[in-house]
Amino acid sequence: MTDNNIYDIIIIGGGPAGLTAGMYACRGEMRALLIEKAGSGGQILMAELVENYPGFPEGISGYELTDKMKKQAEKFGLDIRMEEVKGIVRAGMEITVITEKWKYRCLAVIMAAGANPRKLGVPGEDELRGRGVSYCATCDGPFFRDKKIVVIGGGNSAVHEAVFLSKFGRSVKLIHRRSRLRATKILQKTFFTNEKTEFVKDSIVIGINGKDMVESVLLKNVKTGEKSKINCGGIFVAVGVIPNSKFLKENVEIDEKGYIITDNDMKTSADGIFACGDVRKKTMRQVINACGEGAQAVYSAQEYVEELKGISYGKDFSV
Ligand code: NAP
Repeated sequence: MTDNNIYDIIIIGGGPAGLTAGMYACRGEMRALLIEKAGSGGQILMAELVENYPGFPEGISGYELTDKMKKQAEKFGLDIRMEEVKGIVRAGMEITVITEKWKYRCLAVIMAAGANPRKLGVPGEDELRGRGVSYCATCDGPFFRDKKIVVIGGGNSAVHEAVFLSKFGRSVKLIHRRSRLRATKILQKTFFTNEKTEFVKDSIVIGINGKDMVESVLLKNVKTGEKSKINCGGIFVAVGVIPNSKFLKENVEIDEKGYIITDNDMKTSADGIFACGDVRKKTMRQVINACGEGAQAVYSAQEYVEELKGISYGKDFSV
C-alpha cells in the first residue's frame, strides 16, 4: 500500500544521528517521517554509561540519552514508524521508500541506519549464539555472574565491554589479534588497572566449543602458530561493525567496507539522498559527531527540497 502524503524528508534509522535529524527537520517545519527497524536508540542503547556526551557531567546511560533524544524529536512533531526499509526507488524528483508494509513518497532521504555487530565467522559461533556467545555485554552481562568470560577484539567496544563484564564475571580475558590495543588510552588505563581483566595478545579465535552452552574457546597465536584452549562460560564478540547500507548499494556510492561516501555536507553521490552517523564513511564514530551530522544532513536536505519546490532563498549575493 502507498502512503499518499509526500514527505519533505524521510529519515531511515533511529539512532542519535536519525533522531537529531528528525528533531531538526520538524523544528525547521519540514514534513518528516522517521522509519526505524526495531526500537529507536541504535548501538548506543547498549552502552551502560556514556561519559563523553556534553551536558551530563555524571554520565548518562545509552538508553536514557536516546530516550531523551526521541522525546525531544517527538515534541517537535516527528512521526516515527517501526518498519524495515527494503529499498528506495526514484522516479523523477520523487523518491519512494519501500518497507515490508508500505511505500512512502518523499523528496529527500536521510540515511542514518547505523551499523550492526560483525561476527567472527568461526565454527561454534552461530550454534552457541544466545547460549554463551553474545554481541552485547550490557544486554547479557548479568547472566554471566561468577563465570570465566572471554571478550574478543581490541577496539573501544571490546575494552569497554571487558571492564563492564568484570563486574559480573570471575575473570575476563581480552583476546586480540595484535600485540597492543586499538582502544583509547583512557579506556586502556581502566582495563590494565582492573584486577579481574587480562590481555591475551597476538591471538585469534579459531573455534568455540560447548554442548548446550559455551565451554571453551580455541585460540591460535598469530606469531607462533601455537594453538591453545581457554575454558570459559561466556564469549563476547566485539570486533567492529558492518554498516546497514545493503539496500542502498544500487543508489549511492559505497566504499569496499559498505560505508556510504558523502561530502562534508552529508551529500551522497545521488541527488536528494544524504547520509549521517555510523553508516557513513569517516574516521570517528561517536554519538557527538553522529548528532552533528544529523543536523548537517537536514540543513543540506532542506536546501535541496526548497530548491525543488522553488522556494529557496537563493544565492544572489555573494557577501
Ligand atoms: P573497531 O574500533 O573497528 O575495533 C574492532 C576491533 O576488532 C579491532 O581491534 C580489530 O582489530 C578487531 N577485529 C576486527 N575483525 C576481527 C576479526 N575477524 N577477528 C578478530 N579481531 C577482529 O570497532 P568497535 O570497537 O566496535 O568500535 C566501533 C566504533 O565505535 C569506533 O569508532 C569506536 O571508537 C566507537 N566506540 C567508542 C566508544 C567510546 O568512546 N567509549 C565505545 C565503543 C565504540 P585490528 O585493530 O587489528 O583492526
